[in-house]
Amino acid sequence: MSSYLSIRGLEKSFAARTVLQHLDLDIAKGEFVCLLGPSGCGKTTLLRQIAGLDLTDAGSITMQGRDITRLPPAQRDYGIVFQSYALFPNLSAADNIAYGLRGPRKQRQARVAELLALVGLEHLQGHYPAQLSGGQQQRVALARALATAPGLLLLDEPLSALDARVREHLRLEIKSLQQKLHVTTIMVTHDQEEALLMADRVVVMNGGRIEQIGAPLEVYRDPASRFVAGFVGQGNWLDATADGKGGLRIGMQEMAMPVWPGHAEQPQLQDGQPLKLFLRPEEVSLHGGDAALPGQVMASVDKLELLGPIYRIGLTVAAWNHQQLRADVTHEQLAALGLPGRASLPLSLTAARLKAYPA
Ligand code: ATP
Repeated sequence: MSSYLSIRGLEKSFAARTVLQHLDLDIAKGEFVCLLGPSGCGKTTLLRQIAGLDLTDAGSITMQGRDITRLPPAQRDYGIVFQSYALFPNLSAADNIAYGLRGPRKQRQARVAELLALVGLEHLQGHYPAQLSGGQQQRVALARALATAPGLLLLDEPLSALDARVREHLRLEIKSLQQKLHVTTIMVTHDQEEALLMADRVVVMNGGRIEQIGAPLEVYRDPASRFVAGFVGQGNWLDATADGKGGLRIGMQEMAMPVWPGHAEQPQLQDGQPLKLFLRPEEVSLHGGDAALPGQVMASVDKLELLGPIYRIGLTVAAWNHQQLRADVTHEQLAALGLPGRASLPLSLTAARLKAYPA
């Protein structure tokens, strides 16, 4: 990948606290990248480093081959949108957007009109921020950030102050705007749904490190670490132990060893070594009936919850040390299962879908 923005060995501490630990990241031109992670993992700190809003301790940031590590914000080529809108309260929507523009008045006016149209606010150009809804203010902030056609768009949790309906709408709007303009974009979010929906690539961060970089589907389907599996989407965790012969034991049951994401090959495991197994609720395959056939294990159905389009089934597997798991099924699948009471899990299919992580 030829990289448009290249980050090498970036480090940042505040007093004695290390917030970014030797980060490397490459972003291609026109890419939409989301920095995703829990509160305090360093997402905003990384974005502020790219923006030049804080000094860098070590490492480098290069944009289009130009080292920008020590450049002041004004000499870097980006527009930025914050969670708090940060509009000038005494300027109209149009004047907020025009703020950073230079050149002849006619030209600036034309550009502002173009940007107002781009974010669908032509009719509100004379309104002041206090007269605009949160979503409208954020559209103005977005237009202002894009006004000078910057090489990079930085978005710091731009949607988290908005209510759910507006947020859902703006997600799609920002995404289609970004695709239309093909502007390289980095967005900070702690909302995994938002990251999966909007990003071309998701950068999952934890404790100042990058845990995984990948396309949304890759991060969801093949979480590279236990942290990523637990943070992105929902899942079942099961305790098991290695049998020392390349397989595993889960309660009384023996099973083939599943894949180890993030490991090129299966690690050497000793007999009895504990493992964590991971399985998404929608990956749990079930058969109806009161008795398990060969190659199946029986589960009791403890709970059935309607979540609108799907049902979530709570199961306990006695043979697996009474461990519990949740299965998500469609209405059709549920009807075919003929619950309630009992169901069984096919062992080889389940083993094929499980992922193993170090305990
Ligand atoms: P959030 O979603 O809560 O903003 P984040 O992942 O963006 O989380 P950062 O804002 O990057 O996290 O903060 C990472 C850590 O660095 C936090 O522990 C925070 O308290 C600390 N930190 C950030 N900025 C400063 C600062 N200017 N001075 C001291 N500590 C700071």
